[in-house]
Amino acid sequence: MEITVMKFGGTSVANSDRMTAAAQKIAKEARRGRGVVAVVSAQGKLTDELIAKAKELNTEPTLREMDALLSAGEQISSSLLAMAVAAQGVPSVAMSGWQAGFVTTGSFGSARIKKLETERVTAALAEGKTVIVAGFQGICDGDITTLGRGGSDTSAVALAAALGADICRIYTDVDGVYTADPRVVKTAKKLDGITYDEMFEMASLGAGVMHNRSIKLAKKYNVPLEVRSSFSDLEGTIIKERYPLEEKMIRGTACDEKTAKISLVGVSNIPGIASKLFSTLKDNNIHTDMIIQSLGADNSWNITFTIPVDNAERALYIAHSLRNEVGATRIDCDKDIAKVSLIGTGLMENPEIPAKMFAALTSAGVNIQMISSSEIRLSVVVAEADAKKALSAVHEAFFGV
Ligand code: ASP
Ligand code: MG
Repeated sequence: MEITVMKFGGTSVANSDRMTAAAQKIAKEARRGRGVVAVVSAQGKLTDELIAKAKELNTEPTLREMDALLSAGEQISSSLLAMAVAAQGVPSVAMSGWQAGFVTTGSFGSARIKKLETERVTAALAEGKTVIVAGFQGICDGDITTLGRGGSDTSAVALAAALGADICRIYTDVDGVYTADPRVVKTAKKLDGITYDEMFEMASLGAGVMHNRSIKLAKKYNVPLEVRSSFSDLEGTIIKERYPLEEKMIRGTACDEKTAKISLVGVSNIPGIASKLFSTLKDNNIHTDMIIQSLGADNSWNITFTIPVDNAERALYIAHSLRNEVGATRIDCDKDIAKVSLIGTGLMENPEIPAKMFAALTSAGVNIQMISSSEIRLSVVVAEADAKKALSAVHEAFFGV
């Protein structure tokens, strides 16, 4: 049986009308004779609301109980959507993550999928049912776990890989992947296709479509993805390994405002300083993105790095705890920054590309605080207040108005 996996995000199941619209898409696909597995997120902002409720009762709830709570959001969606699909005259069964066979590691709040036991899903498909699976969750030693925020994309891709689906469609509130977030840059253009690697960078650098972990997984198992709108029938953007016919260098832009930077000023000019700092950050599961070391006064060095803003307090605490050991004279933290990036392939092969990007930022009157480059991305850190202006300027320089 040919299988389609369809993933519906929070806005696509936000209320009964959206549920019915999603159910109609599922029913239509099932009537084409395909096996349909749908994966759902919690409705609208329900996950955030549940987190807020928990914090009202306990400022530091246990992660195990948080996962039990948050997983309920997706279970509400899957049961309701299964009812909506049945109302379209198509047999349907709802499954929680563990019923669908998601076995994970035990790290509550950020569990990893260890294996997927798909027997129950396959049996339901064989009985002619569409299967509606609660995303974002699994089980470990009898306890419910969640995969981390945005994890439903990963659930969908994992199911598509395990079932050998020929397409995994991600339904969202935009009709594809754009050259910039169309909610921010009105002149952004929709892409017909993008490679896994480019999409991974876009997602990691703040494009706001899909979870980057799910794209890694799709690449690993070669699952073709399509990002499309749940509000229309338009074709979306296909994400796959290669686009041989249109080897474009520049693919898109992205902006991440949820980033912060920490600087250690005047650290000792001896071996082992960076190693000490970044291994301690790693041991604390803090992911650093841009790292710059530059010569400071008196033969000392300055080290600056960026981290997700949610980790800023912890990273700052770590930097202070190492202050004497690394010999820093001052430690600064700035949360009011944003990272604006250009994404493509072979970016640094062409010196015109960085020159053009920096010229665009200068014309827009944006000051660049940090720069980092690789073959697939060129990122600058700017003041958060300049973020939208900077993104628009870079987008206009490369994609026109
Ligand atoms: N509901 C979860 C979240 O908001 C998972 C997801 O939507 O992918 O993070
Ligand atoms: Mg999401």
